[in-house]
Amino acid sequence: MERNLKALTLRQLSELGEKHYNGIQIYRWIWKRGEENIENFTDISKKLRKKLIDEGYFVGKIQEKFRIHSSDGSIKFVFEDGYESVYMPEDDRVTVCVSSQLGCALKCNFCATGLLGFKRNLKAWEIADQVLQISKKLNSKVTNVVFMGMGEPLLNFENVKQAIRIMTSHIGLNIGARHITISTSGIVPKIYELAEFDRRVKLAISLHSAIEEKRVLVMPIAKAYSLNDLKNSLIYYLQKQRRRITIEYIILKGFNDKDEDVKALKKFIQGLNCKINLIPYNRVDYFSWEVPSEEDVYQFYDKLKKELDVVITIRWSRGRDVYGACGQLGFEILNKAK
Ligand code: SF4
Repeated sequence: MERNLKALTLRQLSELGEKHYNGIQIYRWIWKRGEENIENFTDISKKLRKKLIDEGYFVGKIQEKFRIHSSDGSIKFVFEDGYESVYMPEDDRVTVCVSSQLGCALKCNFCATGLLGFKRNLKAWEIADQVLQISKKLNSKVTNVVFMGMGEPLLNFENVKQAIRIMTSHIGLNIGARHITISTSGIVPKIYELAEFDRRVKLAISLHSAIEEKRVLVMPIAKAYSLNDLKNSLIYYLQKQRRRITIEYIILKGFNDKDEDVKALKKFIQGLNCKINLIPYNRVDYFSWEVPSEEDVYQFYDKLKKELDVVITIRWSRGRDVYGACGQLGFEILNKAK
């Protein structure tokens, strides 16, 4: 029987108490207030606190192994057996990029996490606790969460959904669903499921190419789900959620930045309410893609701008110098294994 209070749902917590609202009180202490000592749950009876302690209940927390500061203000945290989160402050917004798995099975061809292979799914509380621990350690209110750390969130979907419930609850981390983004490589059946999810989070799709053969080279998972199937799932998602999606596109110099790529992308996004995020490729030693120069990036951007009638932004990745940028998480473990 699970004794870590953070691993229990609100319903399970309510069953521990004498009154139904004891569950709400405990939930608020552990997730909203970040309290780690049951003795300090002062609005519940001494008798119940003693009972919880005597029965071995405790407030778990994920342990930080180390952190690295980037010169751009972002901080990469490495927790427990090696999963990573990145803290990114910017103006009045504080974003935490969380991991949903340790390692990843999908082996995208630009990503250090994929090289690690799949190790394990993170539990719901371990995902939500990345946000809570970082917020407490830095005394900083987290306003946004992106599932862009290690792992494919839609392949650990039950735990990710539960973590999002903790994040969005007003007695939990109290972050608005529209400030939470799930980024997926395009697990088509799960996109249909996400369309039915009762928390209206944002969706980002890692596309990286709208040409089937090229996409397969970058993302082997594309063999399982064709671009056509992916597009149909996105149309369904948009009908249900009515929330603009983001298409993520890593620019790999000389590979997916040609005229044919612009044409294919134009065709793919036809009829989709979307915006496009261009991400200049970040160097990971293990892959031989060429990093685009600033000029290359703007050239591709201009070509797209001319042809496509959607918002296009360039996302210069944060935390490059600490290997906290897109595609670079997992580097700490890989380096140790060298
Ligand atoms: S990019 Fe995402 S889905 Fe692909 S291997 Fe890396 S962590 Fe997995």
